[in-house]
Amino acid sequence: MTSIQEKIIALKHKKNALILAHFYQTMDIQEIADHVGDSFELARRAQTATQPVIVLCGVRFMAESAKILNPTKTVLLPAADAGCAMADMITPEDVKRLRAEHPDAAVMCYVNSSAGVKAECDICCTSSSAVQIAKSLQEQRIIFVPDQNLGAYVASQVPEKEFIFFHGFCPIHHQVKPRDVMEAKNAHPEALVLVHPECTIDVLEMADFVGSTAAILDYVQNSPKNEFIIGTEMGIVERIKQTIPQKSVYLLSTKMVCYDMKKTRIEDVLKCLEQDIHEIDLPEAEMKGAYKSLERMVSVR
Ligand code: SF4
Repeated sequence: MTSIQEKIIALKHKKNALILAHFYQTMDIQEIADHVGDSFELARRAQTATQPVIVLCGVRFMAESAKILNPTKTVLLPAADAGCAMADMITPEDVKRLRAEHPDAAVMCYVNSSAGVKAECDICCTSSSAVQIAKSLQEQRIIFVPDQNLGAYVASQVPEKEFIFFHGFCPIHHQVKPRDVMEAKNAHPEALVLVHPECTIDVLEMADFVGSTAAILDYVQNSPKNEFIIGTEMGIVERIKQTIPQKSVYLLSTKMVCYDMKKTRIEDVLKCLEQDIHEIDLPEAEMKGAYKSLERMVSVR
């Protein structure tokens, strides 16, 4: 453990803080976290946190979700400018417009969205819970925002419902093409291809398994196979190499790096704990509206 990691651990105990880190964070941050997980797991951990301070090492929408689910806590985001390109593609006004155009449809919202957008929706979902949540809704028609790719995947798994999509996407996953999959398979012919549902449907159709980051991790852990091509952000590859070293994993494309996720440096975690900076503060109305959507999501599983 480095001296800066030791300082963070000491300060965490002194301030009784809980450190949550997403799988896409760098390994030095994952190592000092109390829990490492995908956005669903982090939301659940934040909701049940008893510590007065939560440090969310990830991007803004994750820290907002932590604050919404556990509003009496102080939630700190170490890199204040860590946003999400997909979340920035949609506004609350876009949701209002879609709702007005399709008044009979439920509005289902991927958690990779702002608190304001969540407040306009009926229920949130994560990539691991989206299919189950779509099935659980009574409405026959579902407006799915903002990720068109996750939406298309959910629609393929829930053919009995009708979906209306928004045109958002994650630039990191959306840019991967079938030819990238072909090249990776040619380089590693024995490897299974595991991809995240934020990839486009033509890439998903070439995969051996489609799942959230947590599901990909579980798959590698429990599979009798030893080689895997991983089609999601590079952080999960780093984690597998460290935690399941007996398996061989290859990143599907070297383009799969989320620069917003990498904005958080270990120094930022120390600084925000030392100085209590970058606290999440949201308008009351947004908090209330988004809470209903998030709480409904968490209660489905
Ligand atoms: S990987 Fe994509 S969806 Fe996830 S935080 Fe980065 S831009 Fe947003």
